[in-house]
Amino acid sequence: MQNNIKLYNTLTRDIVPFTPFADGEVKMYTCGPTVYHFAHIGNLRSYIMEDVLEKFLDYYGYNVKRVMNITDVGHISGDADIGEDKMLAGAKREKKSVMEIAEFYMNAFFADCDKLNIRKPEITERATSCIDEYIKLIEKLLDKGFAYISGGNVYFDTSKLDDYYVLTGHTSDSLNTAVREDVTEDTNKKNKTDFVLWFTKSKFVDQELRWDSPWGVGYPGWHIECSAISLKHLGENIDIHCGGVDNIFPHHTNEIAQSEAALGHKWCNYWFHVQHLNTKDGKMSKSSGEFLTVDLLEQKGYNPLVYRMFCLQSHYRKPLQFSFDIMDNTASAYKKLIDRVSKLTNNGEVEKNIVNEFKNKFTEALANDLNTSLAITVLYDMLKADCSDATKKFLVNDFDKVLSLGLLSANNNTNNVDTELVSYIEEKIAQRTEAKLQKNYALADEIRNELLAKGIVLKDTKEGTTWEKA
Ligand code: AMP
Ligand code: ZN
Repeated sequence: MQNNIKLYNTLTRDIVPFTPFADGEVKMYTCGPTVYHFAHIGNLRSYIMEDVLEKFLDYYGYNVKRVMNITDVGHISGDADIGEDKMLAGAKREKKSVMEIAEFYMNAFFADCDKLNIRKPEITERATSCIDEYIKLIEKLLDKGFAYISGGNVYFDTSKLDDYYVLTGHTSDSLNTAVREDVTEDTNKKNKTDFVLWFTKSKFVDQELRWDSPWGVGYPGWHIECSAISLKHLGENIDIHCGGVDNIFPHHTNEIAQSEAALGHKWCNYWFHVQHLNTKDGKMSKSSGEFLTVDLLEQKGYNPLVYRMFCLQSHYRKPLQFSFDIMDNTASAYKKLIDRVSKLTNNGEVEKNIVNEFKNKFTEALANDLNTSLAITVLYDMLKADCSDATKKFLVNDFDKVLSLGLLSANNNTNNVDTELVSYIEEKIAQRTEAKLQKNYALADEIRNELLAKGIVLKDTKEGTTWEKA
C-alpha cells in the first residue's frame, strides 16, 4: 500500500519513512505496566501516545496486531540480584499476596485506560503465564553460548555481541549499571552490562512466586518476558516496539540482545519512545511515593479526557511538564470544543471535497512523526471552515477515531444517555454517509438494516440523516 508515514526511530536516531515487513500489516509490541501500584499519569502519557500511534496506523489502513505484557513478576529495580523487587515491595506494603496485588493493579490499569479511551491491545499477556517460553528461550541462549551460569543464576553475556549498544548509540559502557544510584555491582557477572535471565539464588528469600527450571527453583529476570512474549505472539520480526524513554536502557537494549542472539537476525525495525511527563521537581515516578493518578484527577474535578487532550497538545518526543494551570486551561478549551461540536446539526450534505481536504491535512500532520497538536489544530480549522454541519460532524467523528477525545459522545454523557450506543450509531451513520458518497448503496442499505435490527430507525432528510428509537 502507498505510505507516506514518517516516524522518529530511536534505533537510527532520525525521522525515517515507516515501512512494515508485510504489506498492509503492522506488528506492534508495547511494554506494559508493572502492576505493583496504580499507574501514574506519566505512565499513562506513554500509553496514550502509543494508543494514538496504533489508531493512526489503523486509520491509515493498516491491520495492526498489538501485544502488551503485564509485568507481574521479576521487575527488580536493579539489573542484578541487588535492587528492590517491585512486586514483592507492593505486596508487603499492602499486606497482600503478590498475585492479589497483581490482579488488583492490573484491573485498575485497564480501568484507567478505559477512562482515557486507550484501547486494550489485541493481546495482553501476564508475565507469569509464560514461564515455559522463558525457559526455552534461556536454554537456547545457553546452547548458543550467549548465556552462562554463575552463583546459581543464569546471565546473558553481553561481551558476545558485536554491538550491545546498538539502540543507545553509545560506544563505551558509559551507561553501565554501576552509574545508577540504586544499583551496586553483582560479583557473579563477567561483564558489568551482563544481566540476569533466571534467578535461583536470590536475596529475596521470601520470594513468593517461584517455578521449577533446569537451573533450579527460581524466577525470571525482567527483560526476558518481553522478548519471549513478543516472539510467542508476533513471531521472528516485529515492526514497532514502544515504551517510555526510560526503557531504552537497559530494558530495550537487553531485549534486543536476547531476541537477536536467539534468532540470529535483526528483530525489530522501529523503536518508538515517549518522553517523560515531569513535575516541577523532575520525572514523575511511582518510587518517589507522590504521584498523580487518574482517580486523583477525577477527585479534583477533571474529566480524564482533559488529560488525554493535555497530552495530545504536545509532541510525544518532548518532555512534558505537568501543571494544574495548564490542566485548567485545557479543561476550558475541552469544554468549549465539546460545546461547539454539540451544536452541530445534521444539516446539509456531506461535502466530499471538504472531507478530502481536511482528511488529508489531518493525515499529513499525524504522518509527520505523529504531530498530534497539529492534528488538533486541523480539527479547530475544520470547525471554522465554510461548509455544512453534516460535513463537520462527519469529520469530527472521523478524526476522533484517532484522537479519541469523546467529541461526539461527551455531551450526552452528562445527560445520562447510553454514550456507547450513541457513538455506535453516529459511527454507523458516518459510515453510511461515506458509503452513499461512494455510491455504494448496497452497503448504505446494509447499515440501515443493521441499525433497524437494533431498534434504531434512520431518517434521511434534506439536512442530513437523523435517528430515533423504533
Ligand atoms: P512501569 O509500570 O514502571 O513498568 O512503566 C510503564 C510505562 O510507563 C513504561 O513504558 C515506562 O517507560 C513509562 N513511564 C514511566 N515513567 C514515565 C513518565 N514519567 N512519563 C512517561 N512515561 C513514563
Ligand atoms: Zn518490555
